[in-house]
Amino acid sequence: MLIPGKLLDQMVAHARADAPNECCGVVAVSPGEPPRAERVYPAGNAAASPLRFEIDGLEVLRLIERIEEQGLQLGAIYHSHTRSDPYPSQTDINFAAGWPGVEWIIVGVADSERPLVRSYLIDGPSVEEVAAEAI
Ligand SMILES: [Zn+2]
Repeated sequence: MLIPGKLLDQMVAHARADAPNECCGVVAVSPGEPPRAERVYPAGNAAASPLRFEIDGLEVLRLIERIEEQGLQLGAIYHSHTRSDPYPSQTDINFAAGWPGVEWIIVGVADSERPLVRSYLIDGPSVEEVAAEAI
């Protein structure tokens, strides 16, 4: 997807604020090819852990409702990796099975000087990196 720089900054700032715990949230997109990120919605990490994240199902449903009210769509779920590379863990791959077609954005802040934002499509066990292009 295309991501305005200020939304990338917002996700990195969220990751830094919650470190060493992982942060999480969702990204609303306007449909198109490629989709364009329009808003970032931070969510609470119910697991409050440096090793994994958990979004409360009701919170996600409420966020999706707000996103759809604005004529947008759920485009991505994002979370941070505070100790490892921004690549999906086995836990992430398992969790992604419940969200087909949604991009999986990982904000890597293990190197605080050089945050990395990567996006993936996860289909069963297969992980494909897709562009998270700053605009
Ligand atoms: Zn992860």
